[in-house]
Amino acid sequence: MRIYATTAHHQHHCLELDDGRLIQSWESPDRADIVDAELLARGFTDVRQPGDLDRLLVETVHVPAYVAFLETAHERWVAEGRAGSCAMSNGWPARRMRDIRPEGLQAQLGYYSFAADCSITADTWVAAADAARTADAAAQHVAAGAPSAFARCRPPGHHASGDQFGGYCYLNNAAVAAERLRQSGVDRVAVLDVDYHHGNGTQDIFYHRDDVSFCSIHADPKVEFPYFLGHADEEGMDGGVGANLNVPLPHGTQSGDWFTALETLLQWIERRAAEAIVVSLGVDTFVDDPISQFQLVSEDFIRLGQRLARVDRPMVFVMEGGYATEALGTNMVNVLEGFLS
Ligand SMILES: [Zn+2]
Repeated sequence: MRIYATTAHHQHHCLELDDGRLIQSWESPDRADIVDAELLARGFTDVRQPGDLDRLLVETVHVPAYVAFLETAHERWVAEGRAGSCAMSNGWPARRMRDIRPEGLQAQLGYYSFAADCSITADTWVAAADAARTADAAAQHVAAGAPSAFARCRPPGHHASGDQFGGYCYLNNAAVAAERLRQSGVDRVAVLDVDYHHGNGTQDIFYHRDDVSFCSIHADPKVEFPYFLGHADEEGMDGGVGANLNVPLPHGTQSGDWFTALETLLQWIERRAAEAIVVSLGVDTFVDDPISQFQLVSEDFIRLGQRLARVDRPMVFVMEGGYATEALGTNMVNVLEGFLS
């Protein structure tokens, strides 16, 4: 299996508001290093750099003004002489306020984000753009006939909607991969999101479309981030009715119930007649994950890979979450090795 990765992400490590404290984000640069080291140790040596960022492709899944905002926000922050090292919102357009794009930087930070768990550093744009082109390259490789590829993306992407960052995500890497597959002639694509958190951004991007189906197993948003999307009654809209499936599970979910939910999703993908699958691969379902509440163990990730292999469709694996850094490499590569075995 070919791996796509870059190292530009190293300079991106933002601040997040966590349990009432402003801390260095759980989504840290060493996450990628640990996965890279494990890939190498287990014989995944076909590692490639992606090509240039396809801005037009990115602007198919994201609003162009949002992309331009991400690219320039930190420069504007510095030019305004703001005190903090990271550009961060302090207000959002909540219920009964108006959906108006404001002019000021601080206001636009609220307009273009939905959570205070991430912020924009001097290097956030470079890292996010690298992750997006990494996912694109993996999708191109699969579109050209490879049975699978792994995009070792950082930062993750599945919480980023068409025009909002949050949940450590800025550009939606899985959506970029799905859109690349579509534009390469794959008529029907499914995104399978197995991260602990609901992929609200990916759902939002494809919610009105029938050609890209989205399905997700995740912690119940009634009690877990991203709270305001990911509920079981969200089935798609307009032309996309029936192309969205959410299976929320309670805190404490163990392997048995998780794999039962996976079967539900895989049978649904079969009925959707997807010709290729993008896997939003988060392993924060792991029992020791510091910010998550599921109970999967490392062996379960081998089983996940083995089960996905039996689906027998071209597959683009896109790295999402996973914050138990000591086990992150093992868990992530277990999926890939299980898939190949
Ligand atoms: Zn997650």
